[in-house]
Order: sequence, then C-alpha cells, then structure tokens
Amino acid sequence: MNCPRCATINLDGSVVCSSCGAQLPTAAPPPGAAPYGAPPMGAAPGYPPGPPPGYYPPPYGVPMQMAPSTSGMAVAGFVLSFLCALLGLIFSIIGYNEVKNSNGMKTGGGLALAGIIISIVNMLLGIMIMSSK
Ligand SMILES: [Zn+2]
Repeated sequence: MNCPRCATINLDGSVVCSSCGAQLPTAAPPPGAAPYGAPPMGAAPGYPPGPPPGYYPPPYGVPMQMAPSTSGMAVAGFVLSFLCALLGLIFSIIGYNEVKNSNGMKTGGGLALAGIIISIVNMLLGIMIMSSK
C-alpha cells in the first residue's frame, strides 16, 4: 500500500505511514471486503449495510454469476410431474420458491408453476380413475 502523501510503500494493514506519519486510506480492511482490488476510499467505516439497488456483491471467493441460471428444482419438478405427481409437486414447489427468493438470479418460475399444475392434474386424474372403479 503506497502512502498518498509521500508514496512510501507501507505494509498492508498499516494505519499510518512509516515514513511521514500520514493516515493511510485503508486501515485493515474488514475480512472479505472487495476481494478483487482495493475498497473505495473511506468505505470501511460507515459502509452502507445494504448494497445499492441493482448491485449484487459477489459471494466471497466465488466468481460472480452474471447470467441467471434456471432452477434445477424447477426443471426436476416439471419432469417429475409427468412421472410421479407427488414428487413432481414437491420439487416444483421447492423450485418455485427458489426462483421467487433468488432476486432474479434463478429463472424457471413458469416451469415450476407448470410442474405444480401438471402434478395436481395428474393427481386428480389418478384419484378419478381410482374412484371410478
Ligand atoms: Zn508517507
């Protein structure tokens, strides 16, 4: 870390410059803060607790996922709704909630909803067939 006043190279985590005593802008950054580069000037104290709208900080150590991915649970629920109505219903509901709670990072809500509907229809058909005998 270079001193902003005299450009002396100081050890990372130094609070003041070892040469001129000037206060260094980044004193011991909080763990996990901005793993890709230095945090913005004066960002450590009083950092806003919530990220600004539209900005999602990447999970620490995990590369940021730019494109939303389809919920695997929604896909599984949709497929299972044709094979086993009860499992399809469970997986579709899990997938639907996953999409709903993902802040747009997961897609497949329509697929999950279709899986829920198909599962219920399959179940009703099964009940009708069983009760008609
Ligand atoms: Zn200095």
